Amino acid sequence: MNLAEWLVRTARRTPNAPALLSGKNIVANYAEFARRVAKLASALHSRLSIVPGDRIAVVASNCIEYLELLYAAWFAGAAVVPINCKLHAKEAAWIVENAEAKAVFVSESGASELVPLIENLPGLAAAVAIDSREFALLRASEPMVAPVPRTRDDLAWLFYTSGTTGKPKGVMISSSNLHAMAFSYFVDVDEVRGTDAMLYAAPMSHGAGLYNFTHVMRGTRHVVPESGGFEANEVLALAHSLRDISMFAAPTMVRRLVDCAKTEGSNGDGIRTVVYGGGPMYVADIEEAVAVMGPRFVQIYGQGESPMTITALSRALVADRSHPRWRERLGSVGVAQSCVEVRVGDENGRSLPTGETGEVLVRGAPVMLGYWRDPQATAKTIRDGWLWTGDMGSLDDDGFLTLKDRSKDVIISGGSNIYPREVEEALLLHPAISEVSVVGRASKEWGEEVIAFVVAKPGMTVETPDLDRHCLEHIARFKRPKSYIFESELPKNNYGKVLKTALRARLAGKTET
Ligand code: AMP
Repeated sequence: MNLAEWLVRTARRTPNAPALLSGKNIVANYAEFARRVAKLASALHSRLSIVPGDRIAVVASNCIEYLELLYAAWFAGAAVVPINCKLHAKEAAWIVENAEAKAVFVSESGASELVPLIENLPGLAAAVAIDSREFALLRASEPMVAPVPRTRDDLAWLFYTSGTTGKPKGVMISSSNLHAMAFSYFVDVDEVRGTDAMLYAAPMSHGAGLYNFTHVMRGTRHVVPESGGFEANEVLALAHSLRDISMFAAPTMVRRLVDCAKTEGSNGDGIRTVVYGGGPMYVADIEEAVAVMGPRFVQIYGQGESPMTITALSRALVADRSHPRWRERLGSVGVAQSCVEVRVGDENGRSLPTGETGEVLVRGAPVMLGYWRDPQATAKTIRDGWLWTGDMGSLDDDGFLTLKDRSKDVIISGGSNIYPREVEEALLLHPAISEVSVVGRASKEWGEEVIAFVVAKPGMTVETPDLDRHCLEHIARFKRPKSYIFESELPKNNYGKVLKTALRARLAGKTET
């Protein structure tokens, strides 16, 4: 089934329901949303010669047109290649070329740098700046009557991994992968009511963009903040006036939201659900978030290769302190979502007993078709039908999965595996620490040794002997960092994830101390 059917049906059922909002302003109801999409789809087909199976790249910050473009591409039978708009123009151009995109839609701000790099690509029919006159003309076409029929394995979303090790890989996500993701949201993440609103504060080129489906199916509002991104005070103000807001947020965004709520004396009034994930959420942080803002949080764990859909930790489990292992559960990523099997395997893929750490393996309906034109990488990542996530973790007897680290982030020191996350969790219990990231540094004596990058809370200072004492109270001696490096901030990618590769590169230049 074509994903655009969901929009068509909602527009028939509730044509006058508000659909697209820019900040507080309603820009289109569902009838208008669907009409815009049908017109744009017709232009893609008749003016840009898009045929089913073609790829359309979108390089834009969050905007209303993003949703229109997604649905227009699907309506016309094409797949979307969402490109992080903060990538360097050369990186974006590489993806456009690798995906053999036939059309590219780009924010006006990025067009001047990207277009000269791609305009001579042989397969590219058009590079159009969103909000240009050309875009307006495309939108003025006669509407296409109905979405092009699509089948379950047709490519819908070609998402490029962030490529921290080598060139990015295109993850092929099909229509039925996205059906599974969307249905699992209702079952495992949150219910959605007609009065709700989805707020796009995290980049729509990533999971936040995929979180539109449930809200299109239910005919709720889609709100793009006027800032086009995440500003904590804007989110709180929008929630306060629009009510019943749901949003996806990376853990760093949750921290900023909670800090802002504390400063403003807000309890997050108007926010119904913050779905957090995409990176480790430390127990101390989520505990504080619930203390300040109440039971508004649900955690998910997923990856591009099984988008947003591996495990979930429900609102009740995040907020309920009555269970004896409540804290352990809060430090986990929850239990398998309904449409996947999750197990932990050794290096040969044999299941490990509960409590033992190995690689997280996933099988089920949301798992990607494979990597775009890279059968070798696909064969390495999907073996016997199981997705090898590259994440290390362990399951408990109740099925709760606790992630340790990416397998490549594990530090092997003196023959022992040290999981940076455990050291980070311990350091974050120190009252003067705001952020921390732990990586391994090559050591002649130990193979690798533990190094902690530490950011102190504003106005506070921390010193090595104090941190050493603190670590000895919480973790085994051999896990204690060999050095602490004090920083004013940590390097992060555009999705707010700490760039351990950048930290390791910084260390590579320094000698052992
Ligand atoms: P991406 O493919 O860019 O979405 O990144 C996916 C990776 O982010 C996963 O493989 C995990 O390493 C990490 N990740 C995603 N969700 C969580 C979570 N809830 N807790 C910890 N790490 C997460």
